[in-house]
Order: sequence, then structure tokens, then C-alpha cells
Amino acid sequence: GSGARDRLRIAIQKSGRLAEPARALLTSCGLSWRESRDRLFCYGESLPIDLLLVRDDDIPGLIRDGVCDLGVVGRNVLLEQDIAVRREREASVFRELRALGFGGCRLALAVPEGWEWRDPSQLAGKRIATSYPQILQQWLDGQGVQAGVVELSGSVEIAPKLGQADLICDLVSSGATLAANQLKPVMTLIESEAVLAGPVAAFDDARGELAELLLRRLDGVLRMRHSKLLMFRAPREAIPSLLPLLPDAEAPTVMQVEGSDGLALQALCHGVVTWQRLEELKQAGASGLLVLPVEGMLA
Ligand code: ATP
Ligand code: MG
Repeated sequence: GSGARDRLRIAIQKSGRLAEPARALLTSCGLSWRESRDRLFCYGESLPIDLLLVRDDDIPGLIRDGVCDLGVVGRNVLLEQDIAVRREREASVFRELRALGFGGCRLALAVPEGWEWRDPSQLAGKRIATSYPQILQQWLDGQGVQAGVVELSGSVEIAPKLGQADLICDLVSSGATLAANQLKPVMTLIESEAVLAGPVAAFDDARGELAELLLRRLDGVLRMRHSKLLMFRAPREAIPSLLPLLPDAEAPTVMQVEGSDGLALQALCHGVVTWQRLEELKQAGASGLLVLPVEGMLA
């Protein structure tokens, strides 16, 4: 892009695994949009932050070319294209700003079920089918193994059956697709999830402040995801046995209860509040336990 821009443009997947959760996350950061007729562009209404709906593979390139300022994309896609860029220019143009906690999967080597797997040296001379040739080649180089990389854009898991390859390197989440094709995962190359990606270079106009505002809200939302506000009553003498049960809580607020010598406590817990924990708190003297969801936080 050229010239100063005063709106921030974020690329997200139009449809697919990351589309819905990406929008939901940005919505919980207070963004709202008006959708264009062709559903490719969403004009930011609550803030000057627009969305471009695209194929996930296009997202790194859109950031590199300055068409979009930020993007929500799998780390696997970002890394694959980053390696290609670094081979060409010897420096990254995009970077991972935040891990977003959804779209979790791993890029793994999977071999036919009959194989007895020992170590990567077995891969020498084999043909490996993948949609991630850069990540795979970089990993093979790191292992000092020479193998053939067969690039396929889809249906990688059937390549061994079709005789196109001996094994595959593909994304795995539950492993059901592999099992259905008589393959088993044997090595993880990278752990992936959806990330917020942006350029290495800083924005030198209003977009810088918009990006910062978004990151601040995002951090609040991500931190609050599993957080709960815990409220309960307890006699003063129970406090020493209650506090050790709240190791993940920020310093609890302790209040006097009007017309009684009991206390009311309020604690923001960042870990998971299980039934077991509530029962332990009750046993240690707490009563009237309330667990409340936290919608947002600005530290
Ligand atoms: P597009 O049409 O946008 O190119 P796609 O088919 O390439 O879509 P999806 O299948 O929607 O992409 O996957 C998007 C991302 O979801 C992947 O790049 C990966 O980061 C993540 N993901 C999580 N679990 C899986 C899985 N089991 N298989 C594939 N991708 C997964
Ligand atoms: Mg894709």
C-alpha cells in the first residue's frame, strides 16, 4: 500500500475452520461491521477496522503486499510462506503477533500402519507427500536426511494408497482421517493454532494506534477466556485455609458483611474453577459460593 491510511484492514478466512472463531474473537473485542453485497469486505462500524474475507493461503501474501495490515491464519500456513520468503529475501516480512487459542492441530509425519517406526534416518530415499514442502524440507535438512518431497495441494492422505508417495506430512487434529486411511502419526514437526499475523515493519500512520488498541483488547479477551469471578462468604478464621485453594487468583478482595462478623470475598481466578475446587472451598469454611463468567478486562 502507499500513502497514510487511517483504517486498519484485517484478513480472515472466508469459510472454513478458522472463519467463525476468528470473527467471534474480533467481535468480542468490540468490533462490528457492515457487510458488502459480495460478502468479501466488511466495513468496520464501531471502529475503523475492516475485514477482508479470503482463502487462508492468501493471507500472508496480502500482508506482505500491504493489501491487508493484519491477518488471522494458521501458524502452519504462516510458517510455510515465511520460509519461502526468507529463502528469497533473507528476512521475514511477517510475524506472529499473538497465538489465539483455536484451530489447534499439528503438522506430523504419518506412515502406513504396517511400518515399524524408529527414527528419521528411515526416511532416507523415501517419497513424502505434503502441502507444506517448505516446512518439511527445512525439517529434513535439519535432520540431515535426504528424501523426496512430493507437493500436493489436497487429499494428501490418499497419496500412499495411490502410490504417489511412501508416507505423508500433513495436519492432524483427532487423527481420524489418518486412521481411515490406514496411516499412523509418528513425528510432530510443528504444533499449530490460529495466530494473529502482522508485518515485521511498524505502521507509521493511524493504523499503529488501531493495531495497539486491538492487541490490548485481544489480550484482555484471551486472558479472560478461562477466568471466573468467584464470590463467597467465610468466617474470618477460615481465611488462612481458603487462600491456598486460590493459587491462581489475583489478590482477593475481602469485605465486611453488614450486621454480622463474617466476611465476603471476591477473587478473580485465572485457572479452571472445577466442582471439586468449590467443594474443597466449602469444606474449608466457604459458603454461598458464586462463580461468574468474566466478559472482558482492561488491565
Ligand atoms: P481455504 O478455502 O481458506 O483455503 P482450507 O481448506 O485451506 O481453506 P481449512 O481446512 O479450513 O483450510 O483449515 C484452516 C486451518 O485450520 C489450517 O491451516 C490449520 O491451521 C487449522 N486446522 C485445525 N485442525 C485442522 C485439521 N484437522 N486439518 C486441517 N487444518 C486444521
Ligand atoms: Mg487453504
